[in-house]
Amino acid sequence: MTDFSMLSDYIIGIRRTLHKHPELSGQEFQTQQLIRNELDKLGIPHRTLHKTDILAEIAGLQTRPEETAALPPEKYSKTVLLRADLDALPITENSDAPYVSQSPGVMHACGHDSHTAMLLGAAKLLWDSRDHFSGTVRLMFQPAEETGRETRMLIDHGMLDGVDTVFAIHVAPDLPTGKICILPGPCMAGVDDFSIRLTSPGGHGATPHLGSDTLLAGAHLAVNLQQIVSREIDPQKPAVLTIGIFQAGTKVNLLAQEAVLSGNIRFFDKELSGYFKEALTRYSEHTAAMYRCSSEVTYTPSLLPTVNDAACCGTAKNAAMTVWGEDNLIKRPASMTSEDFSRYLEAVPGVMVFLGTSDGTQKTSWPLHHECFDLDESALLNGCRLYAAYAWEWLFQ
Ligand SMILES: [Zn+2]
Ligand SMILES: [Zn+2]
Repeated sequence: MTDFSMLSDYIIGIRRTLHKHPELSGQEFQTQQLIRNELDKLGIPHRTLHKTDILAEIAGLQTRPEETAALPPEKYSKTVLLRADLDALPITENSDAPYVSQSPGVMHACGHDSHTAMLLGAAKLLWDSRDHFSGTVRLMFQPAEETGRETRMLIDHGMLDGVDTVFAIHVAPDLPTGKICILPGPCMAGVDDFSIRLTSPGGHGATPHLGSDTLLAGAHLAVNLQQIVSREIDPQKPAVLTIGIFQAGTKVNLLAQEAVLSGNIRFFDKELSGYFKEALTRYSEHTAAMYRCSSEVTYTPSLLPTVNDAACCGTAKNAAMTVWGEDNLIKRPASMTSEDFSRYLEAVPGVMVFLGTSDGTQKTSWPLHHECFDLDESALLNGCRLYAAYAWEWLFQ
């Protein structure tokens, strides 16, 4: 019998240690060492595929029942990948908690410390139960989620080879502790980045008729671009265009020679990515031409929408029932934020679920990426159990 109160203490202890020592994307060396040490204590084999990741593997030891002898190995023996992310954000934490970040300007404001702690807890549960399942559980402790710069590399290094399904949890401060949200289909948006550079020979502010003004062109472009979503995209298809940076001008009496507008676009229908690229270029060229300026558009597709497989959602719901013992599902709309778990789901069917971590107080209800973000640690035990339960649903025969 598992002592759940000890397991909960273990998860909270790990989470607090990681919370105190957050590391930025791609720099998760201490975090990696902590995970190695914990896996070594249990005897779970692990390796590193690229730099700051850890891939652990737990092989089930159950002998194959005779009645399954006719089945080919891939039908009988499954591989389930459970994923946690490791990185923190460049944010100065605003908290008086005893586990406040000890690294100035760096903070676990997205809850990835708790994802890692829950998955280490699940590693214990799965290791202890390995006599009772066949197949393999792969545990991926993934770095650099916030920049999305490692996932493709890890896939190239074989992370998903032979994997039948993938599963991830994200904590959700907008949902109460004890509740879980499982959304079939798109649950998080795709995102593309863009940057538009307007140029002109400039001129003196006293003689605008002799020059051209990229600042004015940029101001009109910032307004015009908002018409793409409102006038060109099907209103039934959610999309948002945000310009986060607008830089222009060097002196009060000069016409700006350069203006740069940068931002991103979010959507659920991946076909919109190509449409936005064309429309953005068209608006930029025409607006620039109207003001006798030139334009240059850089358009970078970043992440596809995170799309949960319907059948895997069913498995996750069954797993949640076994953990909570009751229907604790809660609905909420898909989020316009993005996740690099979408790359896993492009390749392998699976699901990302949202675990409620708010106890109703302000302290645990700040949004993700907020300087005051914190969570109700009592929610983490069942999150840990859910990781293991999803694997068991696939691997118990
Ligand atoms: Zn985040
Ligand atoms: Zn996150």
